[in-house]
Amino acid sequence: MGEVTFTRSKKFKEEELAILERLMGTLIFPLKNALMYRKALDAAMQDSLTGCGNKRAFDSTLHREAEISKRHDHPLSIVSIDIDFFKNINDQFGHAAGDDILKQIVECLTLSARKSDLCFRCGGEEFIIVLNKTNEAGARIIAERLRQAVNKTRFVHRDKIIPLTISLGTATFKNDEKLESLVERSDKALYEAKNSGRNRVVSAEVSKKKTHPVSEQKTA
Ligand code: GH3
Ligand code: MG
Ligand code: MG
Repeated sequence: MGEVTFTRSKKFKEEELAILERLMGTLIFPLKNALMYRKALDAAMQDSLTGCGNKRAFDSTLHREAEISKRHDHPLSIVSIDIDFFKNINDQFGHAAGDDILKQIVECLTLSARKSDLCFRCGGEEFIIVLNKTNEAGARIIAERLRQAVNKTRFVHRDKIIPLTISLGTATFKNDEKLESLVERSDKALYEAKNSGRNRVVSAEVSKKKTHPVSEQKTA
């Protein structure tokens, strides 16, 4: 935790050392407790498998980012992501492979997004990325970049290549809308991406059925 040094020119007497010891005891225990409390709070916000933020962290971040967005009139977008046919991966390669893939996906998403884009695991194989200072067009570009990154990555578990794609829905925050509505809209866009063939991006703001062009399609 650190070091506290007491110095003075005169040697400390035994009683004085005892007082210092007691004083340190009184200081250190509350400090240790505060650190443990902070660690527990951090753990409560983290997904233990992938290390990214969990649903609780997402709710709190989205709330904070929406406030900042309103105050500074910055655009704010989110991307909902769902792995395509993930159940097949568990069925074909086993649950451990599925878990490993979830970790690799988070790594791939984090590496492909900007540093300021925060990734959260909001369900089993569902993720949301919060894009601050990003408008609708920007969100689609980032989502498409993520889609391509996953499409291009060779996911490997125990020497076996696991083919993988993701579907994505984007939505951009409207100043007067409730956050639940923003999440609902990006979820809806995601399901439109699923229903129109998977491995693609759909923006909630772009009219229904118009999907973002996909250069290459692949299904697991
Ligand atoms: P779709 O393309 O429609 O999204 O199909 P899907 O198979 O991905 O979707 P579905 O909802 O049918 O299945 C999701 C699967 O994700 C089922 C569940 O067992 C698996 N899953 C959820 N959480 C975890 C996890 O933590 N580890 C592993 N290995 N699998 C998980
Ligand atoms: Mg799902
Ligand atoms: Mg899925």
